Amino acid sequence: MTSSRTKGMIDATFDNRDGTIWFDGALRPWREANVHVLTHGLHYASSVFEGGRAYGGKIFALTQHSERLRASANLMGFDLPWSTAEIDAACNETLAASGLSNAYVRPVAWRGSEQMGVSAQRTKPHLAVAVWEWGAYFGPEALRKGLRLNIAKWRRPAPYTAPTKAKAAGLYMICTLSKHAAEDAGYNDALMLDWRGQVAEATGANIFFLKDGVLHTPTPDCFLDGITRRTIMALAKRRGIEVVERAIWPEELEGFSEAFLTGSAAEVTPLAEIGPWNFQVGELTLQMAQDYADLVNGRISL
Ligand code: PMP
Repeated sequence: MTSSRTKGMIDATFDNRDGTIWFDGALRPWREANVHVLTHGLHYASSVFEGGRAYGGKIFALTQHSERLRASANLMGFDLPWSTAEIDAACNETLAASGLSNAYVRPVAWRGSEQMGVSAQRTKPHLAVAVWEWGAYFGPEALRKGLRLNIAKWRRPAPYTAPTKAKAAGLYMICTLSKHAAEDAGYNDALMLDWRGQVAEATGANIFFLKDGVLHTPTPDCFLDGITRRTIMALAKRRGIEVVERAIWPEELEGFSEAFLTGSAAEVTPLAEIGPWNFQVGELTLQMAQDYADLVNGRISL
């Protein structure tokens, strides 16, 4: 017998929903937005993606996301035959068709099934955009309570071992492993160090720390320089708060009073704990969360 909980989970699978997905130039019924199993992107991770959010019907920083998608594809050695403006339009069209005004927006691009094997010279690039309702990434309590992170066993790779500036599917292999290990140990997420042992980021968001009124964030030289990260830096400057980008070592976490994650999905989420270190869900973090909410909802501008 199917319990209501299991039934709810089955209903919520991502391949079985009403609506439409933009696929290579046109909207298709949601359940027909499929690829073949012999797709290069599936076997060899030749896939790049984006994640944005719409607030009140407007996708925040849309053009930055579309530009990054094209740049990620280029870093992976393929060109998207859609301009940034066309990708923007595809996202807006999919959002409009969804009837949602607050939603998550997921463009994804991949190499097709024209060729199998490591070489992918003859594959064609594809692009799809899906939009769905997605509440707080870490759940409704996170903003009040703060997240608990452990420290991942996996480290962000050095820039000479992978195209670390790309938002490429392959780079998420160690994020999923780290996230699962954290969840299995009762944590919300994991802090990933980089190959040198410096603090890098969480599995799907950048990180900031507060000490004596100054924000500190790791220099993004081997991980994504997030759009939200840059937005928060601008919002902090607007308030006259100094932001220092630098190498941060885990031993330093002892000295920080507040810490938070930033990301298009995660928005601004306070941290309560990273391994043995504790942080307050403090005033500055909540101020940044409020400023970000005000900005994306058009109540303030930069
Ligand atoms: N790092 C990783 C690994 C991510 O997945 C994300 C989310 N895209 C970020 C950082 C934050 O990037 P952004 O603020 O551009 O969403």
